[in-house]
Amino acid sequence: MSRLIDGKVISAAVKERVKNEVSQLNEKGITVGLAVIIVGEDPASKIYVANKKKACEALGIISEEYALPESTTEKELLGLIDTLNAKKSINGILCQLPLPRHLDEKRIINAISPEKDVDAFHPVNVGRIMIGDYDFVPCTPAGIMEMLAYENIETEGKRCVVIGRSNIVGKPMAMLLLHKNGTVTICHSKTRNLKEICLGADILVAAVGKAKFVTADMVKEGAVVIDVGMNRENGRLCGDVDFEAVKDKASAITPVPGGVGPMTIAMLMQNTLTAAKRQNGIG
Ligand code: NAP
Repeated sequence: MSRLIDGKVISAAVKERVKNEVSQLNEKGITVGLAVIIVGEDPASKIYVANKKKACEALGIISEEYALPESTTEKELLGLIDTLNAKKSINGILCQLPLPRHLDEKRIINAISPEKDVDAFHPVNVGRIMIGDYDFVPCTPAGIMEMLAYENIETEGKRCVVIGRSNIVGKPMAMLLLHKNGTVTICHSKTRNLKEICLGADILVAAVGKAKFVTADMVKEGAVVIDVGMNRENGRLCGDVDFEAVKDKASAITPVPGGVGPMTIAMLMQNTLTAAKRQNGIG
């Protein structure tokens, strides 16, 4: 059995660090505030938003929730974002995706001030990640880098393979590994010889969205395997990696649940703290 990379332990450490820093800022009279906007009744989104609110409360971050009806117009939503962009007590703004179809996601994300864009989806922040000069990184890849650092897993000179090229996971993940001097290959649905490419990986990140997609014959002996997937199989949460088969081959592996998942909210808290520090001229 390989070493288990425990997202619950590592996310707790991140949250403890954030909580201490928030309390130090509070002592200087500086508050940290996050606004979360949710439009419509999507049950999964409601759970995510409730969890974000709970995390804020536990860490001393002020959270404001804006639950808008499905019928909200783009003009109304843009108006709210304008107000929050200008609101001093709010340091981070997050608009829970997906939005109802009649709302243009791109236009909404672009309206959030880059300084308050704690999801790091705004093109300015995406561009800053490209050039390696960034404050915010999308929370899931940021959480994975935190896990690798916590576990003292070296990336420099390592062959890193990322399966998936989404804007929120695959692409930023690849950039972060590149900034840490990994030799990075990005794979996607049109990639040929996927198995051979994966077999060359010292660090393999799976962000595909298909249950048990990565099988043992795709993993090199001793590789580090990071499973981003959150899939439902027979009602149970399950990753993109066939954990039972891969765990004996990998040197270290993240489980699902309890791996990358818990890191995402912790890194949102970290990004919100960073936003508050920057807006107050600290760090
Ligand atoms: P996505 O936008 O659907 O992207 C999936 C990627 O996988 C695409 O780039 C796609 O390639 C690629 N892919 C699909 N089939 C493939 C195949 N047969 N071979 C190689 N590549 C293939 O998904 P996402 O938003 O990145 O999320 C990926 C997974 O992570 C999902 O299970 C999601 O629920 C989970 N997730 C977890 C967290 C967390 O907090 N743990 C956060 C975000 C996402 P193309 O580009 O060619 O279509």
